[in-house]
Amino acid sequence: MVDKKKMFADLLLNWWDKNKRDFPWRRMNDSYSILIAEMLLRKTTAQQVAGIYIKFLEKYPDPIALSEAEEDELNELLRPLGMEYKRAELLKKFGREVRDLYDGKIPAELQQLLKLPGVGMYAANAVLCFAFSEDVPLLDTNFIRVINRVFGVESQKPRARNDNKMWKFAKSLIPQNKGKYFNLAILDFAALICTAKKPECSECPVRSVCEYYKEKEK
Ligand code: SF4
Repeated sequence: MVDKKKMFADLLLNWWDKNKRDFPWRRMNDSYSILIAEMLLRKTTAQQVAGIYIKFLEKYPDPIALSEAEEDELNELLRPLGMEYKRAELLKKFGREVRDLYDGKIPAELQQLLKLPGVGMYAANAVLCFAFSEDVPLLDTNFIRVINRVFGVESQKPRARNDNKMWKFAKSLIPQNKGKYFNLAILDFAALICTAKKPECSECPVRSVCEYYKEKEK
């Protein structure tokens, strides 16, 4: 399994080198900008978030500015993403808590991050990975799908995203000191090749190590 994990990571990163997508939040490396991207990206598309992300950071450049946001203005800015009232409420709450609990600075410790409104394991790990270069996984339904297909590893829990076993397995796939690139590669690979409905197996760079492909070809 160790060799297979290494082969998978090598093939994936090699593919990603030539196929990476670009989004404005991928050029950011500060915790606030990273968390805002993760919060905005929920239940909407990357294209929609790309349309407002820079404007958002210019208007609300830090948690304190966000905590003081005028509700109408914030709602208006968030409208293209949908659910703007809910999003605005959560973002303001997040800004207020960072201001009150951490003096306006995003903490760098997992348990503290997890206490913030709207910040779950995925978003907290995104901060640790992209701002602090930690080799932690960003496990979502897409990453889980890739793990299921390539390694045949499945969760027995009703929600695989809450299964420690899956988080541990995902972490074990990350090559040392390459967490940032590996996580971005998985995101792009799951969006472009190993898609939910119609995986592009014939063009897939990791098919030589994929269990799903092996079964399909029998
Ligand atoms: S071979 Fe197909 S199922 Fe396997 S990882 Fe590639 S795209 Fe996904």
